Parts: sequence; structure tokens; C-alpha cells
Amino acid sequence: MLNIVIFGAPGSGKGTQSARIVEKFGINHISTGDVLRAEIKNGTDLGKTAKGYIDQGQLIPDVLMIDILASVLDSFKESKGVIFDGFPRTIAQAEALKQMLAERGQQVSIMLDLEVPEDELMTRLIKRGQESGRADDNAETIKKRLVVYHSQTAPLIDWYKAEGQYCHINGLGTMEGIFNEIAGAIEKL
Ligand code: AMP
Repeated sequence: MLNIVIFGAPGSGKGTQSARIVEKFGINHISTGDVLRAEIKNGTDLGKTAKGYIDQGQLIPDVLMIDILASVLDSFKESKGVIFDGFPRTIAQAEALKQMLAERGQQVSIMLDLEVPEDELMTRLIKRGQESGRADDNAETIKKRLVVYHSQTAPLIDWYKAEGQYCHINGLGTMEGIFNEIAGAIEKL
């Protein structure tokens, strides 16, 4: 079973590339950001809690996120594989994912790190905010999300290198070119 972690700063193209991977490899997709946005839309208690953090550009607490992830993962028991998009975002989440997969006799197959320069991330996110109206895609919140990415999420690069699962992907270029690099890395597994 393929367990792919797609990793990168906000605006690095994780969602876009995940959709292509799902289409080509026929695996399931977990986007924790999408899960949280659906909860907000449905006005659930979880949604109300999540909104406070998301609007501030902060991460939702690990315990909450790990619970959400575990319940989504359980719904994919018969799956050919899963792409984890936006999770893990902290070392604690990466350790929890490792344990959850180990309990199922599995492990992360590859961690794809989509690297994109910071000025390009800003440009993409501002544009996405204007087009989609996503509340956290405004200049002030984007800056906070990038600070959070560098302090809490980027340390996962070394963590996955130590696990031997790290794969660097140049996230600058055409959507097609980036996808070809990703598909090549997955096909080698
Ligand atoms: P995303 O759509 O992946 O950019 O996520 C949007 C927002 O949802 C993030 O800025 C966080 O506030 C929250 N979020 C999504 N995934 C996680 C996660 N794994 N851990 C903590 N917060 C998350």
C-alpha cells in the first residue's frame, strides 16, 4: 500500500499535485485543511474551534488533529493507498502518523517536499485569495502561516531525511513538469 506524504509551505502546490496523483495512481486523498474547512462550513463544534486557529494562521492543536486523522484513516481500510496532504505539520504529528501506520502494518512510502521560494509563495497565495475568497489567504495571515511553517513544520524535513523517506521536488515550473517529477519518484517505489 502506498502512503505518500505531500509536504511543503502554504502555496507550494500540495492540493493541485495531490489531485493529479489521485487521478493517476487511484489512491485516496486526505487533506486536513479541506476536512477542517468542511467542518467550519457545517458549523460543527470542531469547525468553530478550528476557525479560531485558521483565521489567526496558527495550527490546530496536535491532539485534535491526530484524532481527526485517525478517524479518516479508518475509513480507508480497503484502499490501494493514501496521500496525506497538509498532515503531518509538526514532529508530534509525524510520530503519531508513524505509529498509526505501524499499527496497521504499514509505513510512509515517501515524503515529497515541494520546494518553492518565499516570494513565489506569497504571489500564489494572494492570487488564490482573490480568486477563491479563502479567508486565510490574505497578506497578514499568509505571513503568519509562513512563520508557523518555518518554526513548526519545516523541521520535518530533517525528521523524514532521518527516516530515509525524504524526496525533494522542485516546486517551481509548470504543473505538468512538477507532476512528471512526482510521478517518476512514485513509480520508482
Ligand atoms: P491547508 O489547507 O493545508 O493550508 O490548511 C489550512 C489551515 O488549517 C492551516 O493554516 C491550519 O490552521 C489548519 N491545519 C490544516 N492541517 C493541519 C494540521 N495537520 N495541523 C494543524 N493545523 C492544520
